[in-house]
Amino acid sequence: MPVSIENIVSLCKRRGFVYPGSEIYGGLANSWDYGPLGVELKNNIKQMWWNRFVHRRDDMVGIDAALIMNTKVWEASGHLKEFKDPLVECKKCHKRFRADDLKKDNCPDCGEKNAFDEAKDFNLMLKTHLGPLEDSASAVYFRPETAQSMFVDFKNIVSTTRKTLPFGIAQIGKAFRNEITPGNFIFRTREFEQMEIEYFIREEDWQKYFEHWRKEMMGWMEDIGIDLKYIHELEVPAESRAHYSKRTIDFEYDFPFGKKELYGLAYRTDFDLRSHDKFSGENLKYKDQQTNEEFWPHVIEPTWGVDRSVLAVLCSAYSEEGERKFLKLTPQLAPYKAAVFPLMANKDEIVDTAQKIYKDLRKEFMVAWDDRGNVGKRYYSQDEIGTPYCITIDYQTLEDGTVTVRDRDTAKQERISKDGLSDYIDSKIKQ
Ligand code: ATP
Repeated sequence: MPVSIENIVSLCKRRGFVYPGSEIYGGLANSWDYGPLGVELKNNIKQMWWNRFVHRRDDMVGIDAALIMNTKVWEASGHLKEFKDPLVECKKCHKRFRADDLKKDNCPDCGEKNAFDEAKDFNLMLKTHLGPLEDSASAVYFRPETAQSMFVDFKNIVSTTRKTLPFGIAQIGKAFRNEITPGNFIFRTREFEQMEIEYFIREEDWQKYFEHWRKEMMGWMEDIGIDLKYIHELEVPAESRAHYSKRTIDFEYDFPFGKKELYGLAYRTDFDLRSHDKFSGENLKYKDQQTNEEFWPHVIEPTWGVDRSVLAVLCSAYSEEGERKFLKLTPQLAPYKAAVFPLMANKDEIVDTAQKIYKDLRKEFMVAWDDRGNVGKRYYSQDEIGTPYCITIDYQTLEDGTVTVRDRDTAKQERISKDGLSDYIDSKIKQ
């Protein structure tokens, strides 16, 4: 990877993509806030995902469920018992680490040799209390994955949408894990966002749909501008798979800090529906209307981390050419689709025409305005945040109604009619 994580973190802070959370109070361990440009990039990723996997498919519906669920959900799903990482503590400095992250038996913090005893299980569920009493009856957990609500709502969804197999339920939302060692910027945090699909199928079709989703995930990565040469598929061995999974592939990406999981694809069998059926006493079987057969559908689960998507997109987009630094974001993902400049900030006619163009375009797209400094500096500033097109209004615009449009990636300029700008941008951001 040509880019360092320091470059990414510093760009994110300087230009308002991501700030350290609670910074004026000294921060809060590994929490991050998305700033004005970061929220646009993140929303564009989520919107593109929703369009692609929900709006454009007949076999998919979406939900947006509560973050805190009945504790029985986590008993049934196995999370209270199984959702744990191995924890070790340094004998000398007492710092705690995730054992499977450590390469040696030496403490990465104080350097103590043979610093660790046997690993203990540490449950990653984040606990809180609902209501005014802080007793065990009021203890609840923030969801560690969005998936469970898709199973818990399965019956309602089937009866209200009348979807027939195969079909999927999609959700985008926050998840919480009390990670032992968060870090690497927004890669691993205790509060993060996921985009998940539970795709319900007949058991005999699982391999076919596993392959289908594997291809869909690759197609998605290509579409958001991730170079597939930096993606590696890891067939997760049985002993490392989650308790519910019969097959898992991790899609790893060459992040600047190493090859790490970006997304995952799992075959969850009928584990979840079967288990919720048992724990809730509700019949969660699917009834085939033609054959009257009743059974628990099996599930293929493709899962995407939103924050890891943001990070991988930024790392992939970061480019340097000589002095020029630019974010090669796809136009669909770029926070601003275009920036509008009056060539001179002190010529009323030019400024008025430019303002009119800016206001018209703003009705349709996120567009930036810049009249500071010279045009070269404005290009530099827009390049750094990935704005694909810079539109300059000059004297010629007043004469013949044309403007210059400068392309971020090639730095080439062309003159087009100001009336054609909206179609021009629209054609570039169409997916
Ligand atoms: P890891 O092995 O990195 O802990 P995981 O295998 O536990 O990840 P999953 O349970 O498969 O992760 O979660 C689905 C997706 O959610 C991951 O592929 C990742 O994109 C994202 N994700 C998981 N944990 C975090 C986290 N702590 N911070 C940010 N994103 C996360």
